[in-house]
Amino acid sequence: METRIGFGFDSHVFKPGVPLHIGGLALDHPEGLAGHSDGDVLLHAITDALLGAIAAGDIGTFFPPNDPRWKDADSAIFLNLALEELQHAGFRVVNVDTTLILAGPKISPIAGEMRARVADLLGVEMEQVSIKAKTPEGLNLDHVAQCHAVALVERVLEPEELKSMSAVIESQRQLEDVVEDLLASVHGVPKRRGDAPVYDTEEIT
Ligand SMILES: [Zn+2]
Repeated sequence: METRIGFGFDSHVFKPGVPLHIGGLALDHPEGLAGHSDGDVLLHAITDALLGAIAAGDIGTFFPPNDPRWKDADSAIFLNLALEELQHAGFRVVNVDTTLILAGPKISPIAGEMRARVADLLGVEMEQVSIKAKTPEGLNLDHVAQCHAVALVERVLEPEELKSMSAVIESQRQLEDVVEDLLASVHGVPKRRGDAPVYDTEEIT
């Protein structure tokens, strides 16, 4: 069985008056995380770990921060794309382990709910997702939230099998269209169907 490991890291600065999103949950806190997207530091680190496991680049490869379509975007979109890339490469998630580093809010009371939400987004069981949190003791970084993530993935399809999966690739194209429709309706950004794709997944996998 071929297994691979990926590592991801992310950090965002706390900013007053911004909603706080961590692990796909909206948390009650006076400050949120500044970022071009919703600033979900945990989902970004996991996204990079999954892409890293199959050497498919990182979140910025697919979602350039200067692209207006990803302004305030739900980071579940990024995670979903990493999962599609993983599937496309013939792998599935074995487990994900993460450590958040932030002064607040306290994560332990909501870690279970957060694990359930992330497991749901990853399409795995809660037992396959670990979320731990520490305070930035001695780092003088109370204004920042950081997250480290590792992901173990295993091969479920051999390269020969992948070659005959053009139907899957076609359905991925349709999913991308759905995401584009969604973003167009949320942000009022006109669709660019017919133009060159923003990210060429063929080239990367
Ligand atoms: Zn980020």
